[in-house]
Amino acid sequence: MDHEGRIAQAVSKLADLDVEALLVTDLTNVRYLTGFSGSNGQVVLSRSGATFLSDPRYRARAASLVKGAEIVIYASQLKDELLSVVAATRATKLGVEAASMTIAERDELDAMLEGVELISTKNAIEELRRVKSADEVEKIIDAVRLADEAYEWIRDRLVPGVSERQIALDLEVRMRELGADDVSFEPIVGSGGLSAHIHHTASQREFEKGDLVLMDFGARVDGYCSDITRTVVIGPATDEQKRIYDVVLAAQAAGIAAITPGADCKEVDASARKVIDDAGYGETFAHGLGHGVGLDIHEAPRFAKISEDILLEGDVVTVEPGVYVSDFGGIRIEDDVLVTADGPVVLNAAPKDRLIEL
Ligand code: ZN
Ligand code: ZN
Repeated sequence: MDHEGRIAQAVSKLADLDVEALLVTDLTNVRYLTGFSGSNGQVVLSRSGATFLSDPRYRARAASLVKGAEIVIYASQLKDELLSVVAATRATKLGVEAASMTIAERDELDAMLEGVELISTKNAIEELRRVKSADEVEKIIDAVRLADEAYEWIRDRLVPGVSERQIALDLEVRMRELGADDVSFEPIVGSGGLSAHIHHTASQREFEKGDLVLMDFGARVDGYCSDITRTVVIGPATDEQKRIYDVVLAAQAAGIAAITPGADCKEVDASARKVIDDAGYGETFAHGLGHGVGLDIHEAPRFAKISEDILLEGDVVTVEPGVYVSDFGGIRIEDDVLVTADGPVVLNAAPKDRLIEL
């Protein structure tokens, strides 16, 4: 869908939100609606259309990127122009994005916009972003392919004496060389006992023989993210490493098999979790099974015990079970999956069928 179509879809939701206009301040939502990427930009949506606002640094960039919206460049701050843009919509109720605004910003808006009631909204644009168009899926597939290729390339470099940070840097450089516009997040490289830290930051630790090495990373293409995790072992694997790897792999297969439009996300989570529970490692799998990916690395829907989300055709989600045992290490396997009417389509091609021994 082009930007005009996205803006029209967003405008058609205003009545449901019980507002006449919506101030979009979340930068990912601004990008989705208008195509603008930069560190400062807002959109006012109303039945009369969309107005994009930014500061003078972005005058040229906005002119080349913004589609489907009128462009207003303010002298220095949003408040310089917002009053007149909102007045032109004749809105008496203005929706604001509660998740992307501080209380101070809201108070300031409230004081400035006399006679306009501010209404907190949540996830209005995010809901539109969930189901990916064919174009968006193509970009995600490109980003997946770059991450897969970087993984194939990096494996030769995983040798004793090399540090986690070096590998994190190499992954980032390789993905950019292959054409990524950015990484989707700072690569996670955990080795030995550190691979059991779920939110590890790559450290100076150097690999040793026998280490598990967990790598979680992704590329961005035209803003769209990929997210992959592979775990390998340096040197021959122990029986325990192989056994736990197979548990995680079976859990991932069970999670993927449960993916279909209309499925309860908590049920998908439970399908994978049961495999890990049954193997006796349930307590160590201390995170949700996965999340949506798109312009944000983490977006709706969410696979978790408490998720209320229902899967939709066109969702792109990760499936990433893990087992983490202190001293032993951590094993996680993550792929990106497109939800289609015919079932799940795994987008990654990077090998995972057995624990790779380097
Ligand atoms: Zn990941
Ligand atoms: Zn992930």
